[in-house]
Amino acid sequence: MPLVTSKKMLLDAQKGGYAVGAFNVENMEMVKAVIAAAEELQAPVMLQTTPSTIKYGSLETYFAIVAAEAKKASIPVCLHLDHGSSFELAVQAVKAGYTSVMIDGSGESFEDNIAVSKRVVDVAEACGIPVEAELGKVGGKEDDLEAEADTNTDPAEAKEFVERTGISSLAVAIGTAHGFYAGTPVLDKERVSQIKEIVPVPLVLHGASGLTDEDVRECVERGICKVNFATELRKAYTDAGKKLIEEKPETFDPKKLGVVGMEAVKELVKGRMKVCGCNDKAE
Ligand SMILES: [Zn+2]
Repeated sequence: MPLVTSKKMLLDAQKGGYAVGAFNVENMEMVKAVIAAAEELQAPVMLQTTPSTIKYGSLETYFAIVAAEAKKASIPVCLHLDHGSSFELAVQAVKAGYTSVMIDGSGESFEDNIAVSKRVVDVAEACGIPVEAELGKVGGKEDDLEAEADTNTDPAEAKEFVERTGISSLAVAIGTAHGFYAGTPVLDKERVSQIKEIVPVPLVLHGASGLTDEDVRECVERGICKVNFATELRKAYTDAGKKLIEEKPETFDPKKLGVVGMEAVKELVKGRMKVCGCNDKAE
């Protein structure tokens, strides 16, 4: 079917008490693998690209691949801009056909974050495209940016932020980090419940690669409606190719590498979808 926006998808998740998995894709193979996993589990799904991925390809290229693959699928597929780094990029993504965008002003002051998020909402919402924004800092490496310190989202600030920006979903910081974890992450899961209590829009968890299934599940139970998985998909894809090269050094056809990479990503995505509880939630 044609791409859908993240609006109904995330509101359904909020109502149903589960989360939609949002998976970062880098190439055609990863797109196919994520959609195949969703199809097999009858799960609604979000595919997303960061600015560095868009720089590697282009908005138009990723849109064309995802739209073509989604068209063949029976489940709802949304294409989302992850960590939109500027107002301009968010608008370009909407123009290119993305059906959901994030503007990440979390590195700015509270007021500047509100200003840039609202600016994106004003334009995107006019085109019917929902906007995700982030408040508080998720630790670790966020695409090309290094976050300095971990600062968890303040519930009262979150409420004011949502009211003043009109965003459709909010990414919260509760101690997760982007990339893989060096040690055991200390998650403030209670914080999710506190924010959910006073913030009406669906909440988003970033930096879930490497979190245990239990951690993800508890965050979902407490009110997370979208969970982002990025790093672990890239690792699964590349590891599968490395293994093939080790076992069969004579391999030269990129399709052979693609096939094992797709299998690995598909299995990983299916597992994560079950943890999010979005299987059999496609309408
Ligand atoms: Zn993120």
